[in-house]
Amino acid sequence: MKTNTSTLAQDIIEGIRAAIGPAPAVLHEPSFNGNEWLYLKECLDSTYVSSVGKYVDRFEIDLANFTGAKFAISVINGTAALHIALKLAGVQANDEVLIPALTFVATANAVTYCDAIPHFIDSEESTLGIDGKKLRDYLNSISEQRSGQCFNKNTGRVIRALVPMHTFGHPSDLEGLMSIAQDFNIVMVEDAAESLGSYYKGKHTGTFGLLGALSFNGNKTITTGGGGAILTNDENLARRAKHLTTTAKLPHPWEFRHDEVGYNYRMPNINAALGCAQLEQLPKKLAAKRELFSRYKQSFSKISKVALFEEPTNSKSNYWLQTILLDENQSDQRDLILEETNAANYMTRPSWVLLNELTPFKDCPNMDLPTAQSLATRLINIPSSPELVLSGSQ
Ligand SMILES: *Cc1c(COP(=O)(O)O)cnc(C)c1O
Repeated sequence: MKTNTSTLAQDIIEGIRAAIGPAPAVLHEPSFNGNEWLYLKECLDSTYVSSVGKYVDRFEIDLANFTGAKFAISVINGTAALHIALKLAGVQANDEVLIPALTFVATANAVTYCDAIPHFIDSEESTLGIDGKKLRDYLNSISEQRSGQCFNKNTGRVIRALVPMHTFGHPSDLEGLMSIAQDFNIVMVEDAAESLGSYYKGKHTGTFGLLGALSFNGNKTITTGGGGAILTNDENLARRAKHLTTTAKLPHPWEFRHDEVGYNYRMPNINAALGCAQLEQLPKKLAAKRELFSRYKQSFSKISKVALFEEPTNSKSNYWLQTILLDENQSDQRDLILEETNAANYMTRPSWVLLNELTPFKDCPNMDLPTAQSLATRLINIPSSPELVLSGSQ
């Protein structure tokens, strides 16, 4: 058993080395090889570093153009984007919101900020996202329609929203999930924090739901330091999103009048300056991440007991984090593989702990989660920075 284990870890280390060259390599690092310094200097020289400025406006227009969303509203981080998106989707106190158990904690936190309750759904192995077929069967058995709303028969609460998350950049089964949202009178809001540059049937993720949320945290595909954005095609919701995230202040030359409780969630101009430069670099980064995938694919094709995760059918993924999946019967070796790869200075990380297992969410409703549970014990993220390809190793 022991010999077997370290053999697999050594095979994986060799697979990584064959693809990216000698260690060290971190999981995902940002890179600033375009107009970042120029735009930041311009921003500082202008003194408009904070809540207003031309880079905020430009970043929002550039984001809308890139994603094909009619409107993009930039905010301080992806969690804030999700919070406001859920609020604008009508999520209220005591509502339930369907989210994957296999996601970053921000998805559940944002639901909780609305005083609503996360309801955890199983994932499918082909997309790493919510399993639409299972969700439909589950809703058929636990929900009922009353006056155009979907009620959980077990808890008596309204199931208001469904939040697919595009795991590591791989699009969820968006058509399946949209048809569920429609059939059960549930609003869909996408957590597209990881999937800037990912497309489902040629359309950018985050533009299928009523609203979508992006993140530009330092470890994401592009970064503004910290940052996020709300995407929507609905002009009224876009206006509401801008208003709510800018303290709900009524436009006036000098008067401070706020017509509801708003949020100071706007993205500072200095972060947007960074974002404009990063967005110019995005196509190059996406091409590099795809090239990195094909290098890994070649090296891992020779290794048994482990598979490199590949973008789902009908989708084009940004390959934000490259992912390997151990065979079912190898999951007991995961921790040793993590230890040995990190000791070899190739940074690797396990799955998030399933959210239904975390203390703040352990009393929330959940369906049976066999696939999420299995994935959580078998998946490992491996070094994924675009620079691994762009800096010309190999
Ligand atoms: C990164 C991320 C977010 C948002 O994170 P911020 O750090 O607040 O920008 C939300 N959901 C998922 C799944 C993420 O990976």
